[in-house]
Amino acid sequence: MPKLYLLLGGNLGNRTLYLQQARETIAQRVGTIVQTSAIYETAAWGKTDQPSFLNQVLEVETNLSAEEVLQTINQIEHDLGRERLEHWGARVIDIDILFYDNLVQQTQRLTIPHPQLHLRRFTLLPLHEIASNLIHPVLHQTITQLLQVCPDELEVHVVE
Ligand code: AMP
Repeated sequence: MPKLYLLLGGNLGNRTLYLQQARETIAQRVGTIVQTSAIYETAAWGKTDQPSFLNQVLEVETNLSAEEVLQTINQIEHDLGRERLEHWGARVIDIDILFYDNLVQQTQRLTIPHPQLHLRRFTLLPLHEIASNLIHPVLHQTITQLLQVCPDELEVHVVE
């Protein structure tokens, strides 16, 4: 069964509760969550005048195609009340596809692996916790190696 890595993030309202609701909905609509990272807190990326983010990475076994996963996570974001106010702006829940097995895809709607994952410590640290030896199918490096050379200096720490 295809193995999927998702990044959850949110910086509005009860952030922990939104992450929990996102995990529950993903388990219902996307597949079985087989690994869950700790929750990490990060200063807002790209835009600094907003609350800090909570982030978490999930490993999910799914029967859905990558396109179906995208449709489903967009629907979950919508259902959990996300307001698309501004790019990089505040949001209750954001769900990104990091990897879908070894799939490499670049279309207008969907880029896999996620094009920024190797540039962001808030993605690499939780991913490293549950998948340190995973090899990036484009960069051909493990998550450990990507983390060692990641230029991002934003402070990221575990909250629970
Ligand atoms: P964002 O505002 O960052 O949540 O961007 C959401 C949009 O990015 C989605 O509607 C997708 O069409 C697009 N997208 C492209 N690649 C990905 C990916 N790997 N994971 C999630 N969304 C993606």
